[in-house]
Amino acid sequence: MKSEIICVGTEILFGDIVNTNSQYISKNLNELGISVLYHTVTGDNPVRLKEAFRQAFERSDVIIATGGLGPTQDDLTKETAAELMGVELVENKEWTDKLYEMFKGRNITPNNFKQALLPKGSIMLYNYNGTAPGVIIENEEKTKAIVLLPGPPFEMAPMFDKSVLPYLMEKTGKSFFSKYYMITGYGESALEHELLDIIDMQTNPTIATYVKPNGILLRVTANAENKESADLIIDKYEKIIYSRLGDGIFANEDISIAKVVLNMLKERDLIFAAAESCTGGMISTMMTENPGASNVFYGGLVTYSNDAKMKILGVKKETLEKYGAVSEETAIEMVNGLAKLSNADVAVAVTGISGPSGGSEEKPVGLTYIAVYYKGQTTVKQANFASRRKMHQSRVACEAYNMIRHKMIEDK
Ligand code: ATP
Repeated sequence: MKSEIICVGTEILFGDIVNTNSQYISKNLNELGISVLYHTVTGDNPVRLKEAFRQAFERSDVIIATGGLGPTQDDLTKETAAELMGVELVENKEWTDKLYEMFKGRNITPNNFKQALLPKGSIMLYNYNGTAPGVIIENEEKTKAIVLLPGPPFEMAPMFDKSVLPYLMEKTGKSFFSKYYMITGYGESALEHELLDIIDMQTNPTIATYVKPNGILLRVTANAENKESADLIIDKYEKIIYSRLGDGIFANEDISIAKVVLNMLKERDLIFAAAESCTGGMISTMMTENPGASNVFYGGLVTYSNDAKMKILGVKKETLEKYGAVSEETAIEMVNGLAKLSNADVAVAVTGISGPSGGSEEKPVGLTYIAVYYKGQTTVKQANFASRRKMHQSRVACEAYNMIRHKMIEDK
């Protein structure tokens, strides 16, 4: 089976965003044994878009397109694909009702209903993360198909996994089942080194790693007749993976470490607070991204200046003068001050040098101290995450959550 991918988006042509959708889809199609012949990127121009679809349809069996399913006038992917296939757009009542439900209490504008118009006879793909459903349009003989998916990766990838993969498995007569593990404390190369023997000899299951902002996602995919047989194949490898990585695996599903910590805090009925310097609020953002954060999160402070550290958290002037803002001593005083102020059971404070400037020989860029207060006890850790500023902040925030996670694991 031959396939190709068309990504629609002027932002990709401008170089404003990286085309991660193509990579994600390509990896998956290849694993299914479907050859990917072309990646095309086109802007929102209807003439060029139609030409891209026409060419692709002529030479491939499955075309997967992402982007341009939004409600605005320049979102034309669905209209263009329908025109090429000679079908009209008709209302999908299920999605109209869904839109009313999603917009409950908000103003729904007429263009939103454009998203409930789907090519006649097409298969609707449910969107659990957004307002645009995906679509599969097949030719009459059902030998060829155009699959349209939304542009945002967090909408596209779950839709691809939940709906497109099963569709393609049926078409190819192959069935694949995957398990996911989220890993922290390893860089991608260190992780690969740790698992090199099983990655190298992989045929079934296949093992792939994906770097995400908050850790590494490890995917183990088995080719089997059904889920039970797949589980048997994967189990053997799961044991090896756990024996090598142990606590480095923070979840056996694709979720963030903040969400894992939130769940653990909730189970233990603990309240958490954060005082952030170099992460500038990222720890708090990662927590509040999750529904239910209010059950466990007291709040977060961004105490960036020395003055804020002193006035709000009670860090001593002498400590700052003697040891500096980026020091073990300051981190400890920050977290203890926060614990006192908030009365939280668990508190974290971070102070570090995210760079690119501000480093010295004694205190290089990347140097960070993370202090955790856990039920009356304070511990501090020095970390050296020399990388780009944003990446440094993200690694510090993840490590802070990882320390809290370990405290709770130790406190059985
Ligand atoms: P929406 O309903 O949000 O309008 P859409 O299906 O119309 O979705 P686009 O407007 O094309 O999608 O893209 C929305 C966002 O998704 C982009 O701003 C970009 O951040 C992201 N995105 C789109 N295409 C890609 C891609 N190929 N790779 C990575 N990210 C993408």
